[in-house]
Amino acid sequence: MLEIGLTGGIGSGKTRVADMFAARGAALIDTDLLAHEITAPGGAAIGPLVAAFGPGCLRPDGAMDRDAMRALVFSDPTAKATLEGITHPLIRSLTESRAAAVRAGGQHPYLIYVVPLLVESGSWRARVGRVLVVDCQEETQIARVMARNGFTRAQALAIMARQATRAARLAVADDVIDNDGPPEALAPQVARLDAKYRQHAG
Ligand code: ADP
Repeated sequence: MLEIGLTGGIGSGKTRVADMFAARGAALIDTDLLAHEITAPGGAAIGPLVAAFGPGCLRPDGAMDRDAMRALVFSDPTAKATLEGITHPLIRSLTESRAAAVRAGGQHPYLIYVVPLLVESGSWRARVGRVLVVDCQEETQIARVMARNGFTRAQALAIMARQATRAARLAVADDVIDNDGPPEALAPQVARLDAKYRQHAG
């Protein structure tokens, strides 16, 4: 089965594009959603997180306190390594079991992994047959993130500064979707790649 890694900077339109592929029949595995799943109340990461960071790392509902952990790891590289040492293997194994189910199910022509930090993470590139980058100008990213998340320009820029550059992502792309235009401009690009991926898969 053809397996594709879809990536792009924050606000580039990954989620929107991935949903359009899913509407055409692609199987989707979104690693951000898996990260939320394992850190939700009762999730697989919760026990190890409490053991490592104490009960203060949870919200009253029992989910990981994302804001508190983000603040902690921002200023403490050891805490970041500990957090990633807990979450990354769980996300990896959940990704693998979901992918195995997709392959065994035989319901989908191809599989798309949505991986925000694919270019940054190294191991991902070797795990997929193709890399699809959703691309737009940095000013477009900034405007979308400010509108969607209510961030200031400085907050948007700070997140982007921790991600790969646009050039670094484009350098590893096998396929590129240009998402600087209006949403209507996506459909023909998605249709063309869907046809291509079905050919690859068949
Ligand atoms: P990502 O998953 O890469 O962070 P999203 O798909 O969530 O990006 O898109 C970021 C924001 O920009 C969302 O609010 C989305 O609805 C909006 N958006 C995405 N593509 C377009 C577009 N072509 N035109 C206008 N808004 C868009």
